[in-house]
Amino acid sequence: MGPGPSDVNPRVLNAMARPTIGHLDPEFVRMMDEVKSLLRFAFQTKNELTIAVSAPGSAGMETCFVNLVEPGDKVIVCQNGLFGGRMAENVRRMDAEVVLVEDEWGRAIELQKLEDALKNHPDTKIVSFVHAETSTGAQSDAEAICKLARKYDCLTIVDCVTSLGGTEVSLDVWGADAVYSGSQKCLSCAPGISPVSFSGRAVEAVKARQTPVRSWFMDLNLVMGYWGEGQTRAYHHTAPVNALYGFHEALVILNEEGLQAAWERHMQNHLALRAGLEAMGLSLIVPEKERLPQLNAVTIPEGVDEAAIRRKLLQSFNLEIGAGLGSLAGKVWRIGLMGYASNAKNVILCLSALEAVLSESHAPINKGLAVAEAYRVYG
Ligand SMILES: *Cc1c(COP(=O)(O)O)cnc(C)c1O
Repeated sequence: MGPGPSDVNPRVLNAMARPTIGHLDPEFVRMMDEVKSLLRFAFQTKNELTIAVSAPGSAGMETCFVNLVEPGDKVIVCQNGLFGGRMAENVRRMDAEVVLVEDEWGRAIELQKLEDALKNHPDTKIVSFVHAETSTGAQSDAEAICKLARKYDCLTIVDCVTSLGGTEVSLDVWGADAVYSGSQKCLSCAPGISPVSFSGRAVEAVKARQTPVRSWFMDLNLVMGYWGEGQTRAYHHTAPVNALYGFHEALVILNEEGLQAAWERHMQNHLALRAGLEAMGLSLIVPEKERLPQLNAVTIPEGVDEAAIRRKLLQSFNLEIGAGLGSLAGKVWRIGLMGYASNAKNVILCLSALEAVLSESHAPINKGLAVAEAYRVYG
């Protein structure tokens, strides 16, 4: 129950144990086509260029930046947590100019600040932001940000690593241009795959580049020779065959459950966890309207050694929760309720285990209420 990797669904592990076949085997190519159409479903998009990059979420991020950003371009990066900072670093390494629009960690991105930056920098080419900040548990209004960026004729790069499968991601409704996600958060697949989706406008921008893409491996002009439509698939790199079996299965599972049902399940378990934590006297740092159901940043009670509590949870209950990052280090725990791990059993285990170890260390909490309050939410 940390910030990822989440528990992998056993069906996914079984799929990954199938025999390895060739990356150009017709059956494998057929499965790749299914991965692409299942991804279009998950992202809610008709984007033709919707594929799985053969590496973790960070490689999906880099694929978006390295293909769209050219030296000298101006890119607005909205930063309200750790992952926005990594976006800015990607832009710098492309010899492009970053305009940083900062918000407090634990809050959503403020639209007015972004609009001010767009007005002050009319030559901006791209606006980039994180939809679901895993470092803080805050979700931003992706639709409003994408529409604002488009009003100023900018492309958007959107990080949906933690949102995909957990909360609504709707690329075509948002009008998002380049989007990346990851396999190991709410999709509950093993780490190592990063889906990306590029709009028609984004594809045009890649084609119109004046300079070559500064990465051979992530250059979509080359990658699409392998992932693109048609019979003439050519070797680019050896696809991680078994990882893709698992990823395919994870998408099939999401399809069986349905997007709406998956989002509702994440929300209900979040509400139960929150009821229990609040009954204990703990609180979530993100304001209610900006909260992610799949990542709960919780205050640490006065005088508690937060690392010792996490260690005890792991040793005594085989339960992992996350530490705070960056400016929230030492100030919060991050409790994940992602994908397959978002269930009532985990909520009850987490609350009772946390109460036990906090009581043992004489933390100032209310005892004996949390599980009952959480259970009430399930009605
Ligand atoms: C986990 C995460 C990433 C990076 O994904 P990796 O698979 O660890 O490379 C990027 N952005 C966000 C918001 C994340 O939560």
